[in-house]
Amino acid sequence: MAVFLLVTSLFVIAINGWSLWNSWQQTVGEKNDDARNLSVSLAKQAEDAFLQVDITLADAVRQLRQRGNDYAATPEFLRQLKEQQGKLPQLHGLFVYDVQGHWIASSGNFVPTNASNADRAYFIWHRTHNDTNLLIGRVIRSRSTGDLVIPVSVRLNDSQGHFAGVALATVRVDYFRQHYSYFALGNKDTLGLILADASALYIRPFPDNVIGRTLSTSPLFKTELKAASSGNATWRSSLDGIVRVFGYARLERYPLIVTAGYDLDNIRREWMAANLINVLLNLALLLAIAGMGFLLLRQVGTNVRNQIELTYVRDELTNINHTLQSLALVDGLTGLANRRQFDALLEQGLLRSLKTGDPISLVMIDIDCFKRFNDTYGHVAGDECLQDVAWALKNSVHFHGDVVARYGGEEFAIIMPNTAASEAKIVAERAVRAVMDLGIAHESTEVPEGIVTISAGYGALVSEGKPAEAEQLKKEADRALYQAKRNGRNRANGPA
Ligand code: GH3
Ligand code: MG
Ligand code: MG
Repeated sequence: MAVFLLVTSLFVIAINGWSLWNSWQQTVGEKNDDARNLSVSLAKQAEDAFLQVDITLADAVRQLRQRGNDYAATPEFLRQLKEQQGKLPQLHGLFVYDVQGHWIASSGNFVPTNASNADRAYFIWHRTHNDTNLLIGRVIRSRSTGDLVIPVSVRLNDSQGHFAGVALATVRVDYFRQHYSYFALGNKDTLGLILADASALYIRPFPDNVIGRTLSTSPLFKTELKAASSGNATWRSSLDGIVRVFGYARLERYPLIVTAGYDLDNIRREWMAANLINVLLNLALLLAIAGMGFLLLRQVGTNVRNQIELTYVRDELTNINHTLQSLALVDGLTGLANRRQFDALLEQGLLRSLKTGDPISLVMIDIDCFKRFNDTYGHVAGDECLQDVAWALKNSVHFHGDVVARYGGEEFAIIMPNTAASEAKIVAERAVRAVMDLGIAHESTEVPEGIVTISAGYGALVSEGKPAEAEQLKKEADRALYQAKRNGRNRANGPA
């Protein structure tokens, strides 16, 4: 029972544990998928945004070239730049710089005359690198408007292929800030746009001071991007130390990476909230099973104890019953059949005699001068003497059906079914002899031997079914007994 309960409880725990673990794995799996999908979708959006800027910038360079190799800006060109810039919400500005870094053209209204952008990283890079590919740089603060912008630039060459300046498009960081704010996310979930050199362009929800920070120690750059250009992983953010489930995707055309990360603690909290009822219900179920089992066990224990007690009481009663039965039929001092049993056995013997036609014999025995024995030796010795005589009498009958009884006081009787008077004589004489052989001293007896003796009288009859046959048989034996007394005691005597 206890084992069954234990197994059931363990089973319930195991099933629940397993299903909770499954549900957690599923939740984490779903979040992984969400993060990956979101990062891929944001990568596509970023790709489109930079592609538009790329095309616009290339277009501007082409128009500039069509006018010759001096890259001089005409009012018509400036108008076109402004128009182009107005079409793209992500585009902060379009600029052209000459070989010294001076403004040749700007889509804005403000063109500083003497200022130089020759110190900008992208300018230095283009001046020192011969290739004319698009360059996306780290976030800078615009000198014309003060906005945070991502510089997208190309090198301009003169007809000999020498450095002739830089065409620059600036992309608003706010464009991504706004776009990323549209997503309903937890307050510690992140969306990030990162340059391939690991510097942050914009990361929601961090303040602007993380912009430009390098993330090269992040597992994203150390392991993940080396293995695949998009994927999933869970890692501790190098910016705030929070563990997140990340999805990441590298853009196809541009050296940019987009990440989407869900706060793992938050996922766990939401999962717990969704499963709490479930867990509590299961716990309650478990407690109910355990409680019921406990009660049941206790009940079974009580039942078993009761059963044992009942068995014990029954055995006791059986014993008592046996004792009572024998007390009712056996003489307490000598252990012989008592008077009650004697009467019953005598009646039985007579019935049997009636049935079989065989005689039944009765020997009546009386201890000689027993009053004097008591007077001389005391009642305790008298009782012991009675026990000894009883023992001697018991040993002088040899047949199974013969019964020795204590008739009363110092008188005994022997019932012998299926026995004629001649055989009763032998048993009676053997009894007298047996008591003599005990040799119990009796100084005050009238018998010359000076020891305890008995006198015996016997009689026999074949029952004819008459009502007073028992009395008749007893009287006959009694008469014979008194005749034995009169004849001098210590002898057996039969019917006259
Ligand atoms: P008699 O030879 O004529 O039979 O003489 P008696 O003294 O044996 O006969 P009586 O009937 O006068 O005395 C019987 C005595 O047996 C009386 C009593 O003191 C004694 N007696 C009877 N029952 C018990 C008993 O259970 N214990 C003891 N110690 N004595 C008993
Ligand atoms: Mg007597
Ligand atoms: Mg007597």
